[in-house]
Amino acid sequence: MQFTSKLPHVGTTIFTVMSALANEHGAINLSQGFPNFPSSDRLSDLVCQYMKKGYNQYAPMAGVPVLREQLADKVQRLYCATINPDTEITITAGATQALFTAIAAFVSSGDEVILIEPAYDSYRPSIEVNGGVPVPYKLSAPDYRVDWAALGRLVTAHTRMIIINTPHNPTGTVLKAEDLKALENLTAGTDILVLSDEVYEHLIYDGQQHQSVLRYPGLWERCLATYSFGKTFHNTGWKIGYCLAPAHLMEEFRKVHQFNVFSVNTPMQYALADYLADPETYLSLDDFFQQKRDFFLDAMKGSRLQPLRCEGTYFYLFDYSAISDEPDTKFAKRMTTEWGVAAIPVSVFYSNGSSDKVIRLCFAKTEETLERAGALLRKI
Ligand code: PMP
Ligand code: GLN
Repeated sequence: MQFTSKLPHVGTTIFTVMSALANEHGAINLSQGFPNFPSSDRLSDLVCQYMKKGYNQYAPMAGVPVLREQLADKVQRLYCATINPDTEITITAGATQALFTAIAAFVSSGDEVILIEPAYDSYRPSIEVNGGVPVPYKLSAPDYRVDWAALGRLVTAHTRMIIINTPHNPTGTVLKAEDLKALENLTAGTDILVLSDEVYEHLIYDGQQHQSVLRYPGLWERCLATYSFGKTFHNTGWKIGYCLAPAHLMEEFRKVHQFNVFSVNTPMQYALADYLADPETYLSLDDFFQQKRDFFLDAMKGSRLQPLRCEGTYFYLFDYSAISDEPDTKFAKRMTTEWGVAAIPVSVFYSNGSSDKVIRLCFAKTEETLERAGALLRKI
């Protein structure tokens, strides 16, 4: 049968590849980003209760109203932003679907989308499958800071969207207030949309504040922002998240959403609405993960893997140039098969595969796992 692949360069995602390799070799899996400790019992009990009470039919297309109301309260409390739960919030099947739907709704054939690399691996194929042209802006180790003037030079008459991600996977950097102001200035008076991936909004350390696009009213009018309950509540397998956008953009988003998922599972939405009523459920996360970050760093002391810096997310980058000069994909595979700890090579997040001899390790793990991983890695 003859057909033309819409994604000829795309293979299996690195997360699937490395997790499979870790399982095959019995390695500690610090590659794919997911916690190895349980999600809240109370939250699981709430899901069961709603299932048993019969909340098992289709939810409204945009999500159950009580959950959307809780989210509107949350962004008011955190970012002083007033959003309309009826018209500006849609519950999605994880952030991946929110990102894909936002791109599908606005990116047409030939439209250019600026993405900041290293970039989360779903952005580029989502742009390409919709006929868009990814335009990479490259960040470099060890600081991975955006030079907005340089990024601005990539803007053309065809630029449809800029994608940002803060806190940033894989580098662990966070955008500052001056970054958001620079982005606001860059896009002012244009038709450029901003897609802001904020799945790690609560994983931000050392007293820093998450710079959501919701804090910037001038910028917000052109933004779609995406979030993931999986990241927030330690249950990545539930695949539930949401998108926030001003009503004029959300209307278009929902035109696509209703035909690529229609609606998201009902009992989890009710359970999450109850759970979110206590803000401590998410406000305690920065301390919780900061402690893990520091524990992991301690466990890595004495290793020849050199830590860069982690201001947010549950990923830490390490420079391995003191150990090897082989490409990072080879090094990450050897770490898994020979030394027993699986990692993600950072080059996969660059379109040209460029490698700074840096790998990513996930520290969303129990202290026992982090301790064991540290012991293995200190021997390399
Ligand atoms: N964006 C980033 C930056 C991520 O790291 C992830 C990983 N989960 C996602 C989006 C996707 O989130 P979800 O699992 O809710 O689809
Ligand atoms: N977001 C996770 C990571 O960066 C993985 C998600 C996935 O496996 N698609 O590791």
